[in-house]
Order: sequence, then structure tokens, then C-alpha cells
Amino acid sequence: MKRALITGITGQDGSFLAEWLLGKGYQVFGQARRESWYRPNNASHLAGRIEVLFGDMSEGVDIASAIQDVKPDEIYNLASQSRPGESWARAPETLLVNGLGAIRLFEAVRHNCPACRVYHASSSEMFGQVSITPQNEQTPFNPVNPYAAAKVYAHQMAKIYRESYGLYIVSGLLFNHESERRPLHFLTQKVAYGAACAALEISDSPDLNEMGRPIVQLGKLALGNLEIARDWGYAGDFVQAMWLMLQQERPDDFVIGTGKLHTLRALCETAYRCVNKDWRESVVSDPALVRPLESGQTLADPSKARKQLGWEPTVSFDEMVKKMVASQILRLKNVTLNSN
Ligand code: NAP
Repeated sequence: MKRALITGITGQDGSFLAEWLLGKGYQVFGQARRESWYRPNNASHLAGRIEVLFGDMSEGVDIASAIQDVKPDEIYNLASQSRPGESWARAPETLLVNGLGAIRLFEAVRHNCPACRVYHASSSEMFGQVSITPQNEQTPFNPVNPYAAAKVYAHQMAKIYRESYGLYIVSGLLFNHESERRPLHFLTQKVAYGAACAALEISDSPDLNEMGRPIVQLGKLALGNLEIARDWGYAGDFVQAMWLMLQQERPDDFVIGTGKLHTLRALCETAYRCVNKDWRESVVSDPALVRPLESGQTLADPSKARKQLGWEPTVSFDEMVKKMVASQILRLKNVTLNSN
């Protein structure tokens, strides 16, 4: 039985990937911060089917001992401070976890299980302010926030370790991928939540935004620049690409995305349409929520992944938004039931 170690098991991707690997007959080990594992999290339903090791990616010793204990065949390094917007306020921590954390993992692999195959989570945010569209594996990086800069550092180090030590390390340049498991502070989930509030006629939401105010206040959902556009795919599809990357004869990096662009405006339109509402009555653009330096209009060219991995997204943008809105409606109904 193959053994896989996933860092960031409590996250969106960690939980989808664990399900996928269990389905493939893997023995799955997940690394999590102790306090996160004991809270309800995305992988809570997998308790008993996976083995959990406690550790923090900002502590080099934790990942080294996990690798020594598990001796995995495959490692998926998904743990990160994953919010580009928040990386401004937490720049040193972002570099420590997303940058140095990855390098410590590569070092531990080099010393303890050099035959192990490693997937490292790079990001389309690394393309930043783009001058070439769409972006593929050759497109230069131009990061515009601390999150993306730390990811570029780890990405380059993955390549250096692969080429210098002959390790099997691949980086996935994944474009935005969302799901009903996305934390509420992410943009797509906020929109799904706003639509759910509209459907349930909740004018002041129980959940708060980063400024400590209800996400929906007086019936309005405040967002930043509505004209930003992203290549949004479904997380359940994207974790399959991670696994496929580790099944190739030679290690290589891949861009993963849908190749389709949608604006935030279109996302709002789709989400509110799911509940038969007009988004223009509920969504406002608030300049205070615009990022100091916005990433450019990134769009994936996933043709290499399509050709070499045979990977294709299966869940459409509309289907994904529908799943997210339905899940938020269910969640809000439970919150309301429990508070009565
Ligand atoms: P996520 O849901 O935010 O999950 C991040 C995971 O990292 C969580 O399990 C979190 O644990 C863990 N983590 C954070 N800081 C840690 C630390 N100091 N030590 C140990 N674990 C820590 O993110 P995701 O969407 O699954 O993304 C997975 C990976 O793909 C990340 O590296 C992300 O940057 C990258 N990525 C994501 C996207 C996307 O659109 N989703 C796109 C490109 C790249 P806690 O529960 O303890 O916080």
C-alpha cells in the first residue's frame, strides 16, 4: 500500500486530496496544527480513515520528524498562509511558512527519503502583474504581494533541489480553485454567502468580515473592485492534477486552470441568479476593500497539463457556484436553527 503525507490536511485542498488518495487505496497521513485538528475542519469527517501528525510548518523539526516517522512514497506540501490579502499584515510569517517551511521539507526529504516524490503547491499569484496572457509554464513571474513572493522563492528552490540533488519534486502552478470548503474570508465564498443571505432574507449576517462588521450588513454585501477577473476552477478537480503530476516518469512543473476568465461582477450575477435574485440590489463596491497592489488579469493556459497529464476540469463555473451557494444556505439554516 502506498503511503502519502499531506501537509495542510485541514485545508480545502488537503481534505479533497485525502479523499481522492483514500479512493486510490493509499494509506494517508495528514499533518495539522494541533489546535486546528481539534476544531471542526475540512478533514474532520476523515478522522479514523487517516492518521494525523501534529506539527507546524514554521517549526523545521516538525516536518522532519513527520517524514522520518512516515517514510512516505509521496508528499503533498499544501500547508501555507494561503491568503494573499492577509500576507501584507503577516509578511514575515508568510515567508517563514510558505518559503522556509517548503525548503525545510525539501531538506528533510533529501536526508531521510530521497526516493520520495514531492508535490509542492505553487500558485498563479506568482505571475502577479502580467504582461503576457494566458500564462503557461514559461511565463515570467512578477509577484505583487508577500504571499506570491514567498511562493516564488519556494518554487525556485523546488527546481534547484530537483536539478541539484536529483529529487522528484514538482510544483503545480494552480490557478484559483474554489469549493463549498473554501473558508468564508475568500472572495468567492463571500459572494456565495451573500447570495445565501439574500435567499434567506438575512439583512445582518451572523458572520463578520475582516473589518469586524457583518459580511452582509443592512442587506448589502461589500466587495472590492468588481472588474477584477480570475480563472476560477473547482478544487475537487484540481487535486486530481496534483496526483497525476506525481505519476509521471520524470518530475516537471505544470500550470493548472480552466482557461476561462470570469469577472467578480459575473460571479455575483451567477451566485444571485442561483437564488433568483438580482445581484445589483445587494452588492456594493467598497474602495476600502481594494488591495494595495492588485494582481493582474491572470488566465491559465493549461495545454501542457491537458496533453501530458490528460487532465481536464469536470465541474463548470456555474455548477461550482451553485454548489457553494447551496452549501452556504444549508450552513446558515443550521446556524439560525442552533441559535433559536
Ligand atoms: P487552505 O484551505 O487555506 O489551507 C491551508 C492549510 O495550510 C490549512 O490546513 C492550514 O492549517 C495550513 N497551515 C497554515 N499555516 C500553517 C502552519 N504554520 N503550519 C502548518 N499548517 C499550516 O488553502 P488551500 O486552498 O487548501 O490551498 C492549498 C495550497 O495551495 C496552499 O499552499 C495554497 O497557497 C495553494 N494554492 C491555493 C490556491 C487556491 O485557489 N485554493 C491556488 C493556488 C495555490 P490551519 O487549519 O491550521 O490553518
